[in-house]
Amino acid sequence: MVEELNPFKIAQEQLDSAAQIMDLDKQAHAILREPKRVLTVNIPVRMSSGETEVFTGFRVRYNDARGPAKGGIRFHPQENVDTVKALSAWMTWKCSLADIPFGGGKGGVICDTKKMDNRELEALSRGYARALGTDIGPEVDIPAPDVYTNPQIMAWILDEYMNITRKSQFGTITGKPVDLWGSEGRMDSTAMGGIFVMREAAKMLKLDPSTSTIAVQGFGNAGKFAYTLSKKIFGAKVVAISDSEGAIYDPDGLELEKLEAAKANHGTVQAYESKNAQKLTNKQLLELKVDILIPSAIENQIRGDNADKINTKLLLELANGPVTPEATDILFQKGVLDLPDFLVNSGGVIGSYFEWTQNITGYYWDTDRFYAELDKKITKSFYDTIAMQKTYADKGKKINTRMAAYIIAVDRVARAMKARGWY
Ligand code: GLU
Repeated sequence: MVEELNPFKIAQEQLDSAAQIMDLDKQAHAILREPKRVLTVNIPVRMSSGETEVFTGFRVRYNDARGPAKGGIRFHPQENVDTVKALSAWMTWKCSLADIPFGGGKGGVICDTKKMDNRELEALSRGYARALGTDIGPEVDIPAPDVYTNPQIMAWILDEYMNITRKSQFGTITGKPVDLWGSEGRMDSTAMGGIFVMREAAKMLKLDPSTSTIAVQGFGNAGKFAYTLSKKIFGAKVVAISDSEGAIYDPDGLELEKLEAAKANHGTVQAYESKNAQKLTNKQLLELKVDILIPSAIENQIRGDNADKINTKLLLELANGPVTPEATDILFQKGVLDLPDFLVNSGGVIGSYFEWTQNITGYYWDTDRFYAELDKKITKSFYDTIAMQKTYADKGKKINTRMAAYIIAVDRVARAMKARGWY
């Protein structure tokens, strides 16, 4: 049977498995299987050609029992409502596992940013903000960057929001430019969180990151920083990296200057040049024999049809949804330590939480405190997850780390819903 790759079906399937293992109340399960609210908007944008084009966007509020919805906005040509629903569910579990006072949300607009100029991108971002109006806000739903969006896009959305509300509410959005009270550490906090998890997981596996080989899929908000930080913090050897065009492999390790030159001059890391560099496909990168594999791009990359070929000891899911349920089972059988996305990449939203906290209190921290608190929070989530896995093992039930993390996250949301009287 060909595996179902609809991300929302996958998110529901994961929840169903967790619900069964933890014996979740049926009513709580029914509420948590569907988003609370799904909004579709159509945004007319005057393009630079003079013609108006209409772009479709979404914002999903999955669950807000524990706090305002929180989650990024993606600008992607293949965006669709089911992907946004799945991502908003995963945000719910991510914020809950990190134990920060947010629910889960996500937004997306169907567009190809590579084919748009800066003025068109600004008009689209402002149009999306006007369409959402006061459906976002520091106590309602708080967006942030995600695939193909960045601090500048957040600034345009925030400016539009503040024009609508006539209130100076910088906590409406996170991942903002530092000039608009964004946090300096937020840009690389997704990857930095992943690096803290890598450090602890490596200890558990008795792996030394400084002598380990690493492959990173993706060169965006998460992947690029995963590459630079693993080199900077551990002196690790990153032997492969990719972008949407394909991958580049060098057994001697890749150099940042050359990667940046390849990207700047030819638009892809594949143009990287060195004596032993070799072009690979994204699929081949995933199958390399490396100590640590970090998928940092998009969903459904490791599936039932290639999971068996994964040749790594530690798999850090820095992207959202890169490993399907069938692949999760195969990797677990193979003995790969596969750590789930909503743990590994939670550094992004933990960083957002710190940014929001500073915005709403008006008291600003230094960057050392930002990283120290990030380390404390994500390291705790890692050990909570491992402890939950052990609790079940002691009861004679072997569960993977994704299920262990689900059980912690779902239980907290269910308890909040119960206390609020939702069931
Ligand atoms: N887009 C990031 C994620 O998927 C960050 C979300 C946020 O900071 O709200 O976790």
